[in-house]
Amino acid sequence: MLIEFGGQVPRQQVVIVGAGFGGLACARKLRKSRSYDVTLVDKNPYQLFSPLLYQVATASLPEDDIAFPVRTVYREVRFVRAAVTGIDSTAKTISLSTGKTIAYDDLVLAVGSEGTTFGIPGVAEHTLQMKSLTDAREIRRSLLRNYELVEDGELPIESLNVVIVGGGPTGVELAGAVRELQGEIRREFETIAPHASVTLLEAGPRLLPSFHPRSSEHTAKTLTKMGVEVRLNAAVVEATATSLRLKDGDEIVAGTRIWAAGVVAPPHWKFLGETDRGNRLKVQPTMQLTDNVWVVGDVASFAGKSGQPLPMIAPVAIQQGKHVARQLVRRARNEALQTFEYRDKGQMATIGRRKAVVEIRSWLRFSGSIAWLTWLALHLAYLSGGRNRTSIFADWVWNYLVWTPRRTITE
Ligand SMILES: Cc1cc2nc3c(=O)[nH]c(=O)nc-3n(C[C@H](O)[C@H](O)[C@H](O)COP(=O)(O)OP(=O)(O)OC[C@H]3O[C@@H](n4cnc5c(N)ncnc54)[C@H](O)[C@@H]3O)c2cc1C
Repeated sequence: MLIEFGGQVPRQQVVIVGAGFGGLACARKLRKSRSYDVTLVDKNPYQLFSPLLYQVATASLPEDDIAFPVRTVYREVRFVRAAVTGIDSTAKTISLSTGKTIAYDDLVLAVGSEGTTFGIPGVAEHTLQMKSLTDAREIRRSLLRNYELVEDGELPIESLNVVIVGGGPTGVELAGAVRELQGEIRREFETIAPHASVTLLEAGPRLLPSFHPRSSEHTAKTLTKMGVEVRLNAAVVEATATSLRLKDGDEIVAGTRIWAAGVVAPPHWKFLGETDRGNRLKVQPTMQLTDNVWVVGDVASFAGKSGQPLPMIAPVAIQQGKHVARQLVRRARNEALQTFEYRDKGQMATIGRRKAVVEIRSWLRFSGSIAWLTWLALHLAYLSGGRNRTSIFADWVWNYLVWTPRRTITE
């Protein structure tokens, strides 16, 4: 409720938790509003552009290119770097890892998601996830360092094998990029490099299950041609320090084991309301959880036209973040709130250099170089910050057009 002091309307405090795709989209739209002061809280000082994380993991982009410093973005938005540890919706405060609290009139929860191991034994201890910059750094280190250790006789030759679990876009993109990296490294480690392999495991009957079956088929064929071993209906039942065991009894020995098989919302926030099987908070059609708590992005469970929760992807988070900003402005003007409607602009996945699949509609699908150029253009457009865009564009021009690709180093 707004209280007037001699004609002056005090500004309401909106606190956005999470400076990812959803949180930043909300802050961007709300920052010029005369009714609200906006505070953005994140445990990291940057927005991570996850769709390009696999390029950092495979040493073709430096970390800085995909981590956009939030503090530099909007002068009108206050940024607090801290992890939010609790929410008291009665007192309308959030508590921070620093021991401080922040009061809010409206709270926007945009904390994203985390990897899940589905409780499979050994997966948490013996596989690498790909959710954060630290994860990408560890994958890059394992991929590159294993060559040196094998050459020095410190590790067996099987350590050059890479196994990736999960045939969704992340697994596919990573498998293609790792295979290309292995090709580039051949010149540096001539005797051992030919032994390196990549296996992509998918528990279901096809890759890219959310795409048209023809795109799945095309992707599997392209990866196979590139030298990736694609195994469908291959469910992992256990991970060990050197291998992955499959339901059919097979064991795949690999020095780098990457888990890209699904994400869930952080269970920490389940106390706030009803959740779905992936811990996502079930929101009202306006994206509200309660009158003053809004939830957007991966952590929100919102049924689309099909009746199924919308996918955990960046365009959903961005549109929801903008929607919440619009609703806050409408409410400040005493206008009725609107329900959220997702505009599906299609999906895409890159398989390798000049290889991708794009689906705008189920009848408008394409693959190959045009799809790959579309993918490049769209990712550049989605990136925050001119510097990041320019630097990635320069790296891509160098990597894709110049004979010797540029590779980032690892310790
Ligand atoms: C490897 C990978 C590849 C992907 N590729 C694609 C793709 O190609 N296309 C696509 O559309 N989507 C892709 N996605 C999914 C996409 O990144 C997410 O759907 C999107 O980031 C969700 O936005 P969000 O705002 O909900 O969360 P995020 O963008 O993840 O932001 C959440 C933010 O909250 C912060 N945070 C979390 N907990 C706390 C806390 N307790 N306190 C303070 N801050 C906190 C985090 O630091 C983070 O900055 C990919 C995801 C991954 C991991």
